[in-house]
This record gives sequence, structure tokens and C-alpha cells, in this order.
Amino acid sequence: MPELPEVETVCRGLLKQLPGRTISRVKVWRDASIESPSAKEFAKVLVGKRFAHISRRGKYLLFHLDQDCGMVAHLRMSGRLLVVGPKSPKSSHLRVEINLDNGQALHFDDMRVFGRLWYVPSGKSFEDIVETLAILGPEPLESLNATYLAKALERKSQAIKAALLDQTIIAGIGNIYADESLHHSRINPNRSANSLLPDELERLISAIRQVLEKAIVKGGSTLRNYTDANGINGNYQHDAYVYGRKGLACRSCQTLIEQIRLAGRSTCFCPQCQPLKVSRRKR
Ligand SMILES: [Zn+2]
Repeated sequence: MPELPEVETVCRGLLKQLPGRTISRVKVWRDASIESPSAKEFAKVLVGKRFAHISRRGKYLLFHLDQDCGMVAHLRMSGRLLVVGPKSPKSSHLRVEINLDNGQALHFDDMRVFGRLWYVPSGKSFEDIVETLAILGPEPLESLNATYLAKALERKSQAIKAALLDQTIIAGIGNIYADESLHHSRINPNRSANSLLPDELERLISAIRQVLEKAIVKGGSTLRNYTDANGINGNYQHDAYVYGRKGLACRSCQTLIEQIRLAGRSTCFCPQCQPLKVSRRKR
């Protein structure tokens, strides 16, 4: 599932191709891919609008169009956005086809059909139309800080791993980067979120930043395959320390990586580097 680094990679790729382009025609192949308004209305209202800018918020892509309008995309499980040439073959998972004035097209492919697109009419904000945008937590690479995180977690007795997946606490982190960030900060995924000490919160935030920034760099190399229509294959997983490494030796201490179920998700960690019981050293 695309997380912050993958969506950021898609955003940067689209930014090189879409701004300045006007939409000439829209064909919705699967009505369920359009959340708002109706698929028919979506196809009609977008025609004639020009892409001005594209930004990311959490795992959402925000398309800023001219005439004070917009479009939002959430890729969810398997959604992909590709800019393709006029002679490119259409994927069998093509759900929405947005033709551009230069002969290219923006394709929304989505095998599982969980991804969604929204149109944002003039006079409305992105948050007005996509309510979940309004309740997202801070961006981890921008405004996240330990004071905020301590406050946000103080009443959360759930596991820290589950709290990291909660988009209202921090935006954009999913299963891979939650596991990696916890490993890099040497915090057990099962620790109660509100038991983290101030220095652990600082460590966690800096680990989150480090992991996401590295993944964005890796995602950048994936983007070329992506625009070649091979889709996103997050290269970061080859560099992962714990994610997807059950039974393999920890890269730091050689202990075997364990996998557990936590908050309904597979969770990998090193029992040696990330002990549940933390010795409270006197400072
Ligand atoms: Zn280890």
C-alpha cells in the first residue's frame, strides 16, 4: 500500500508533467473509483480545467486546478497514477482516463478498486470535500515535534505501532515505515503509546524522518520505472531493517527478526534491539 514516500514520489513525478496542461476529455471506466460528485458529473466538470500545481498531504494527492477548482486522489491498496503517451496500451485495470491537451493522458489504474478520486468545485476547499483530510495529524517531515507527540499520545494506551498507523496522530505512515521507524528508535512495537519517555519520543521522531527521507530518495529511483508504466515497486524494501525480514538476522545485532500481529497488521521487530522491558537508566 503506498505510504508517504511512495505518494511523495508520485507527486514529484506528476509535477514534472502536469502543470500547464489542460484537460480535454475524461472517461470514467469504473464509477466506484469516483467518490464525489457522480462519475458522470466528474467527467463533465473536469473538461477545460488546467493543472496549476500538485501537492501531497499524508497519503493524499492534491491537484490544484485553475478556476479555483481541484481534484484529490487517494491510491489506497493498488491505485496508480501514470502519465502516458497517445499510443500507450491501456491497462486492464484502467479506471479513469484523463486526456490532456498535448495528446498525453493521466491514467488512474487500480486493480483492487479501493482508490478514490474527488472533484473539488470552486469555492470549496480540499478539506470541505474530503473530510478525512481535515482531521489528519501533522506532516512528519514538517511540523511534527516531541511536544505535540507527547500530548497526542498521553491518553493513548494502545501499542505505539497502532498509534503510528493512526493518520489523525501523524499523517502518512503505514505498516512498513512504522516498523522501520520503531526499529531505528529501538522501541518495541507493543509498548503503550503513552509510556514513551521524552528521549524516546525524540528518538522516534528523528527515526521517522530519517526513514521517510531515505525512502523518498529510493522512491525517486522507482519513479522512472513507474512512468515507464511498470508501476511503483518501492525500492526501499531492499534496504529495510525489519519489514518483511521475519526469521532473518537483524542487521544491527544478528538476532532473528520476529513477526507478530499487532492492530491487525503484521509487525516485524528485533527482540534484542527493541526489548519490551526498558531499563530506566538514571541520568
Ligand atoms: Zn537487533
